[in-house]
Amino acid sequence: MTSYPNYLHETIENLWRNPFAIHEVDPALKKDPYLWISFIRDLPIGLSGLREVPKQILKNQIFFLETKKTILSHSDFIFSNLPEVFKNDKDIVLDNINKKAKKDENYVMAFFEEEIPEKFKQDYDVILLMMSKITKNTPVLTSFLKEANNPLLRNPNFILDCLKVNERFINFFIHRIEASFKSDKKFMLDAIEINHKAIEYASAELKEDRDFLIKAIQKNPQLKYERYFPRDIKTDPEVENYGDKITIIKVPSLPLYLNFQAEINKEEIIQFKETILEVAKRIKASKLPNFSKALAGELYVGDKPFFKKNYMVNVSSGASASYDLLDRCIYFYTDHDQSLGDAIRDLSHEFGHRYHHTVVKNGMNNERVRDLYKEVRFSCKLPQIGDPLSDLREDWWNVKRGSESEYYLSKIEKVQGWKEDKFIYINDEGLEKTFSQQQINDLISCPSQYGSKSHEEWFAEMCNLINFNKVKPNQKTLVDRLIQILEEETI
Ligand SMILES: [Zn+2]
Repeated sequence: MTSYPNYLHETIENLWRNPFAIHEVDPALKKDPYLWISFIRDLPIGLSGLREVPKQILKNQIFFLETKKTILSHSDFIFSNLPEVFKNDKDIVLDNINKKAKKDENYVMAFFEEEIPEKFKQDYDVILLMMSKITKNTPVLTSFLKEANNPLLRNPNFILDCLKVNERFINFFIHRIEASFKSDKKFMLDAIEINHKAIEYASAELKEDRDFLIKAIQKNPQLKYERYFPRDIKTDPEVENYGDKITIIKVPSLPLYLNFQAEINKEEIIQFKETILEVAKRIKASKLPNFSKALAGELYVGDKPFFKKNYMVNVSSGASASYDLLDRCIYFYTDHDQSLGDAIRDLSHEFGHRYHHTVVKNGMNNERVRDLYKEVRFSCKLPQIGDPLSDLREDWWNVKRGSESEYYLSKIEKVQGWKEDKFIYINDEGLEKTFSQQQINDLISCPSQYGSKSHEEWFAEMCNLINFNKVKPNQKTLVDRLIQILEEETI
């Protein structure tokens, strides 16, 4: 404690022991900004001492600047407790956004909505910083700007800056900006250069303007991967040399297009073609009515970083493929470690979603499919003592054909303190497998444990069971009912 001027030494020492002694300090000394600078900066009372500072001192420029430094150096402070003069300082507001963002972006959003002075809610730097700090709250912030009719949304530089700092901003772009931007060639090209996905929001006219599209692909060759980009321009000799080369292959005799990532090698392409042909063979032979109509559209093949970068796909899922509801296309991940059999199964599962979505009447909202799922989900007939486990297990055909011997239900136990019964299966070597009632329920009603997640997953797993002839003995009636519904409910 030596940073305060000498003449304050005794007073500060005294206040160090008892900060409330500030009320007894000589009134002449209380007019000295350095006393107060020290009071806030050097004493344990810290920023809460601000409430003792007289109005006249708050207006003092030296006090303001020195205390501002103190505030900025604090790792945390309660903004709402600051005197107005500090709340109205832009550096302090920006600093607080940064500090809150380190903890949790919800704090940042609440801070913006409830605490910061109105004038900052239109400030270029404040909003841009907000935009760079939030991800999940991006729609909240953009709606706020729109509702407040914020002039920043009419400022092309601001919009382009937002695109640079927040990738998610693109998703809300279309709903929030003036329509005139979408037909502005220069603006759209600048936006596309920053993020190729901006092309989706170009006006219909621009999207058909060949000259514009070629300029756009020059600005950002990643557009070659863009789903909405016309296929004939992607493969036009004129644009072939911009950026990555991509490979598009049409599957023979099907309206199905395979789009391969540039880095993919010939072997991988050949291997994938084998996979897709096997899947197509199963689907064409399927007992499910009109399933082959789902063998259409775009399929994208690449590694996970490729999908993250180009399609903002969340690739954390455990499967090697996924279905995009919005664009009705299937993604296949080449870097997901899997056997050929697994790849075929995962890819078929995704075609199951496509079938459900595009061939079944009313898509995933089809009521008869939903009702069937609800019914089987909650009306399970529990296994009886002596029943083989293969009646329930999703890999029952392996159990029956493989070396692993069959398990039989030997007892159903009530466990003290448990709500549910325990089902204990034993094989002839005396090995036990135990299941909870919930696990048994899932095994009975669903084509796989995974299929109990939602009615969409249940449907796709049912498709796989049927297409791969793996219907469990106790599922035959259910499968017949599903097929009968689909006879009437597919287009
Ligand atoms: Zn799925």
